[in-house]
Amino acid sequence: MQTVTVLGATGSIGCNTLDVIARHPDAYRVFAITGHSQLELLMQQAKVCSPRYVVLADESRYQEAKALASEYGVTADILCGPAALEDVASAGEVDIVMAAIVGGAGLLPTLAAVKAAKKVLLANKEALVMSGALFIDAARQSGASILPIDSEHNAIFQCLPQDFNYGDLAGSGIHSILLTGSGGPFRTRDLSTFADISVEEACSHPNWDMGRKITVDSATMMNKGLEFIEACWLFGLATEDITVVLHPQSTIHSMVQYVDGSVIAQLGHPDMRTPIAYGLAWPERIEAGVAPLDFSQLADLTFDTPCPERYPNLQLAIDACKEGQAATTRLNAANEVAVEAFLNGAIRFTDIARVNQDTLNKMEPLTVSSLQQILEQDRAAREVAQQITRGLT
Ligand code: NAD
Ligand code: MG
Repeated sequence: MQTVTVLGATGSIGCNTLDVIARHPDAYRVFAITGHSQLELLMQQAKVCSPRYVVLADESRYQEAKALASEYGVTADILCGPAALEDVASAGEVDIVMAAIVGGAGLLPTLAAVKAAKKVLLANKEALVMSGALFIDAARQSGASILPIDSEHNAIFQCLPQDFNYGDLAGSGIHSILLTGSGGPFRTRDLSTFADISVEEACSHPNWDMGRKITVDSATMMNKGLEFIEACWLFGLATEDITVVLHPQSTIHSMVQYVDGSVIAQLGHPDMRTPIAYGLAWPERIEAGVAPLDFSQLADLTFDTPCPERYPNLQLAIDACKEGQAATTRLNAANEVAVEAFLNGAIRFTDIARVNQDTLNKMEPLTVSSLQQILEQDRAAREVAQQITRGLT
C-alpha cells in the first residue's frame, strides 16, 4: 500500500489523479489533498477519498473550510497556508507526491517533496522551469525519483532506454528528442485576426481538457516552450538535442530518434490518466480507465513545423533556455502575469508575447543559483510584467 499526497487536487490533473487512485483502493491510500479556491470540490473529494489532511493554500478561508467540512461530514484535519503545503508534501508517512499545483505557487511544496526523497510525480512544469539545476540537484542529493507526468515528457521517459544516463544521448545511441505539440486552437487561424482572439476561444483546446492557464499557454505555444525547458532539465539535454514537431491529433505524445534511424514513439488517447497511472505504478503498469487505442478509428496522423510568427512565445522560451536560469525564471513569471491579465480581459491575446518579451528586455542579464535568488527574480519579473501590463490596458 502506497500513501499519496495530491498537491492541487481540485485541478484537472488532481481530479484525474484521484480518479486513477480510486480504481486501485488496495494499492494507494490518500494522505492529503490540497486546493486553493474550490472549497466545495475539495470537501467532496475529501468525503470520497478520506484523507488524513485537507489543506487549503489560502489561509483567509480557514473558517469557511471548517464549516464546510462539518457540513460535508469530513473528519480529516483541516490545515492551511504555505507551511502546511510543504508539511503534507514531505511528511514521513508519504511515499508519493503528485505535484499538480499550477504555476510558481507549486515550487516550494514540490521542492519540499523532492528534498524529502519522495517519489515525485511532476506535473507542475513551472516549478522546474523556475528552479532548474537547483531542483535536479536536490533530487540527486536526496535520492527522490522524479516521474514526468507532462504527457510529452512521460512519453520521452517511456521511449528512452531503461539504463539511460542523464544527459548522455550519445551513450544510448540517441540522435534527438522529438517533442510533439498540437499547435493549439489557432494553428490555421488567419494571423491578422490574432489580436481579436477572445478568452473563450483561447480556453477551448481541440484535444486536451485542462486548467485555464495551461490551455492559454497551449494556444500561444508557451506551453511547448516551457516543456522544451522542462525536457532539458529532466533528461539533461542541450537545446540542439530537441526538435519541436507539430502533430495536431495529439495521438503521438513525443518520440526518441535513434542514430540507426529508428524512431520510438509513445501513443495513446489524449487522456492524462495514462501518464498519471504510469507515474503512480512505475516501474509497473496499472489500469487507468483509458480505452484502448483503436487504430481502425484513428484519423490520419499529420506533422508540421511550428511557424515562428504564429508562436513567438515558443522561440522566446528556447532563447531563454539558452541564456540561463535567470531568463527562464523571469519568462515564467512574466507569462503567469500576462496570462492572468489576458484571462481577466485586461490585455489582448497578442499582448501575452509582448509582455513576456518586454519583461526580459527590461531586466539586466544575471547569474542566479540559490533558491533565494530565484525567488527574488520571480518576484522582480512579476513586478516588471505587471507594470508593462498596466501600460497596455
Ligand atoms: P488547474 O488550474 O486545473 O489546477 C490547479 C491546481 O492548483 C488547483 O488544485 C488549484 O486549487 C491549485 N492552485 C492554484 N493556485 C494555487 C496557489 N496559489 N497555491 C496553491 N494551490 C494553488 O491546473 P491543471 O491543468 O491541473 O495543471 C496543473 C499543473 O499541471 C500545471 O503546472 C500544468 O502546467 C501541469 N500540466 C497539466 C496538464 C493537464 O492536462 N491539465 C498536462 C500537463 C501538465
Ligand atoms: Mg504537455
